[in-house]
Amino acid sequence: MISEREAAKYPFLNDAVTLVETLGLTLEDLMDPGHTKVLDRAERRVAQAIINGEATSELGDTITELLSFPVGNMFITAMGEQFLFRRYALSEAVRAQGLLKDETEERLAKIARLEFGWTLRLVDESLDGRLYRFELLFKDYLRNAAGFREPEWKIVNRLMREGYVLLTRREASRLLQEEIQRRIADLVSRRRQISLPGPLGAKVESLKKFFDENRSRLTGEDLPSELMTEAFPPCIRHAFEGLMAGKRLSHMERFGLTSFLINVGMDIDEIVNLFVSVTDFDEQFTRYQIEHIAGLRGSRTKYTPPTCSTFKTHSVCYNPERLCQHIKHPLSYYRIKVRDIQREQGPESGDEAPNTQAAK
Ligand code: SF4
Repeated sequence: MISEREAAKYPFLNDAVTLVETLGLTLEDLMDPGHTKVLDRAERRVAQAIINGEATSELGDTITELLSFPVGNMFITAMGEQFLFRRYALSEAVRAQGLLKDETEERLAKIARLEFGWTLRLVDESLDGRLYRFELLFKDYLRNAAGFREPEWKIVNRLMREGYVLLTRREASRLLQEEIQRRIADLVSRRRQISLPGPLGAKVESLKKFFDENRSRLTGEDLPSELMTEAFPPCIRHAFEGLMAGKRLSHMERFGLTSFLINVGMDIDEIVNLFVSVTDFDEQFTRYQIEHIAGLRGSRTKYTPPTCSTFKTHSVCYNPERLCQHIKHPLSYYRIKVRDIQREQGPESGDEAPNTQAAK
């Protein structure tokens, strides 16, 4: 049987769900003032997903932490926002991955096999300066890494042996994050929208209001309709100017620049022309990739640029300015800079200023 602490860390595991079921809590029980802490924590889980896209773990009170997960799921389902299903699932999966990467190999393997049906073998091999701890069956690898854009995940760049892909511990936990995200997204989206009574319903209403206040920031609706290159953050400006000068951009620079330009409203044809005219890229292939990032092909997901911390990891962050110290995302930089430029230009300049607090 799973311990209460383990269940609180990974409340989406089947054993954790069983543990919650044995407590036999009803909606009426949850409305009792004795469960206020659970409702508050569930509300925080959802709010963290909305604001940061990443929940934190609060393991000081394990039973509250455990119970708040199904209640948070219930809140998300009741809110009925498709956009939030995916964001919440990602937020919880990233939280879990932060804990998983510090687990022993044996624990990781157990979760992977029993919960997600992976065919996985433990190994202990140092190759090319990397410590490989797992071999994962090719099809399990592909199911989870297929959506990754970084070159190191491409199958041609992987070490393989007899149909198995070698993985480090960090890589295994990252792939598990994908499984967890799918499981949680399925949990919150497959139920019919529900209406919750009493204090539960009040929390849902307050979260809906909170989401509405942040909606335009999250979906990019508050960005100006006209492109303002002078508001580009240093990293994007550097990649953009590098491209114009004919420099060969790294994969991350190309993805970051393309997704940024799409999100700030540059026309697909213009982006294609940009790449094709200054490089020797094949037009058809380039267009396909750009349309994929724009959500017009494949999974139909419109990608946003990576966060500043991902850009930093991949050496794409370049010459950060003072404003960079206060933001976590290149689009936030753009949003604030646009507002500053518009303010300098006077009130007749067009779009209304976005909320800077929310932009962080
Ligand atoms: S801090 Fe962020 S916005 Fe600023 S240069 Fe670095 S990656 Fe770009």
